[in-house]
Amino acid sequence: MVTPIGHHVGGRRITGTSRRSGPVYNPATGEQTGAVALAEAGEIAAAVATAAAAWPAWAATPPLLRARVMFRFKQLLESHADEIAAVISAEHGKVLSDARGELTRGIEVVEFACGIPHLLKGEFSENVGTGIDSWSIRQPLGVCVGITPFNFPAMVPMWMFPVALACGNAFILKPSERDPSTALILADLLAEAGLPAGVFNVVNGDKSAVDALLADPRVAAVSFVGSTPIAEYIYRTGAGHGKRVQALGGAKNHMVVLPDADLAQATDALIGAAYGSAGERCMAISVAVAVGSAGDALVERLAPRVRGIKVGPGNDPDAEMGPLVTREHRDKVASYIDLGLREGAELVVDGRGLTLQGYQDGFFLGPALFDRVTPEMRLYQDEIFGPVLAVVRAPDFETALGLVNAHQYGNGTAVFTRDGDAARSFVSRVEAGMVGVNVPIPVPLAFHSFGGWKRSLFGDHAVHGSEGVHFYTRLKTTTARWPEGIRSGASFTMPVMR
Ligand code: NAD
Repeated sequence: MVTPIGHHVGGRRITGTSRRSGPVYNPATGEQTGAVALAEAGEIAAAVATAAAAWPAWAATPPLLRARVMFRFKQLLESHADEIAAVISAEHGKVLSDARGELTRGIEVVEFACGIPHLLKGEFSENVGTGIDSWSIRQPLGVCVGITPFNFPAMVPMWMFPVALACGNAFILKPSERDPSTALILADLLAEAGLPAGVFNVVNGDKSAVDALLADPRVAAVSFVGSTPIAEYIYRTGAGHGKRVQALGGAKNHMVVLPDADLAQATDALIGAAYGSAGERCMAISVAVAVGSAGDALVERLAPRVRGIKVGPGNDPDAEMGPLVTREHRDKVASYIDLGLREGAELVVDGRGLTLQGYQDGFFLGPALFDRVTPEMRLYQDEIFGPVLAVVRAPDFETALGLVNAHQYGNGTAVFTRDGDAARSFVSRVEAGMVGVNVPIPVPLAFHSFGGWKRSLFGDHAVHGSEGVHFYTRLKTTTARWPEGIRSGASFTMPVMR
């Protein structure tokens, strides 16, 4: 049965008027389970009008009352966690425990947003001049938009909207058309939590919906997470329309393993970080840089572990890795294994040709491991976004660091070592936004901020934490004096303190 999937505008679910729709699959079985409505420009304009009309009253609502909506939302997310995780797994394919994990990371941002009265406190200076006071406050922007990728249908939207809403903005979420149902549940729960109708809206769609949002003059700010070519397009187009834009892109995260590292710990870290969620994570490790004598020992340890990874449908409690999101994406990732062989890399474990009994039509691909990958190879340069780990050999620390710094992406990176000097030097000199020391996926918690460098982020601000509060507010500084103060007559020069 194919379920129609619509939008959530003005506090309720609506079917939409567009005749275009896109298929939604269960990646484990390969069956089409849903048909998601793809909004046209007129529907986008109506959603923006709804959000713009709801915004002033929400902006005028005291932050403490906005925080209370977030508290109730957090409670509802927790009581609906099993249902949400099941929907994530059914449309994305990731295993249920991983779906629960992403929801938890999203809830942590809601918890952060519950502190908004404190986070919005301004700064005050008494007597900046005689009898003159000055203060700075941060005010909401208006209608903000979030455009999100398929790989975290709960967590990535929740990097954005809890902070945006708590700051007093209205929000329109355009989720990925591959797994759109989670966003609609989040909208239902926000309404149940008491968020006024129209303050949060979900419109489903593809490029035409995104383009209409980018061009609409009533949209003040755009947050994007997705692949680098689209991130760059969103940044240029949104900024060209005068909007504030933060656009997070793709990644190729390197983990440097020094010869003195605890190799058992490094191997465990690589298995989870490279193959968890079938490698469909922007913080997945896709390159292991083995320094000196670490190379042979690491590959020897990795190979049997990679062969032993249990691949299965997301709802199988024994599965460690699920299918890829679509057939096209699975085939694209598999084509990189073909390419790596043509480029001369050494294929240690081949993930191609995996079939699972009862799931022959699912979008499965086994985990793959390459050794002796070199920087000239596209296998090394491109983001593959699947269960393929490339081991690169480096003779020394400086060469390993140089590889990380020369790569076009700079999202996350890690160093595994027991040497404090080497770790400190790596942290200081590496060109990436998020760094782990013996931590393979250094995803910052909600009260810090998440964002990469180089072609992994376009714009000035990372998401959530204090960066999120700054992105979703604008600064106003007031300087005031009262009639009892000193009168000095009209002044035609810049006022200065004497
Ligand atoms: P994607 O770029 O294909 O899609 C992201 C969003 O952009 C979707 O909502 C989609 O509908 C929209 N979109 C797609 N093509 C468009 C176009 N031509 N014009 C306008 N909008 C368009 O990304 P994806 O495949 O859904 O997600 C995987 C990518 O996201 C990977 O590259 C991954 O690294 C990246 N990602 C990055 C981060 C990060 O924090 N840096 C986090 C998660 C995912």
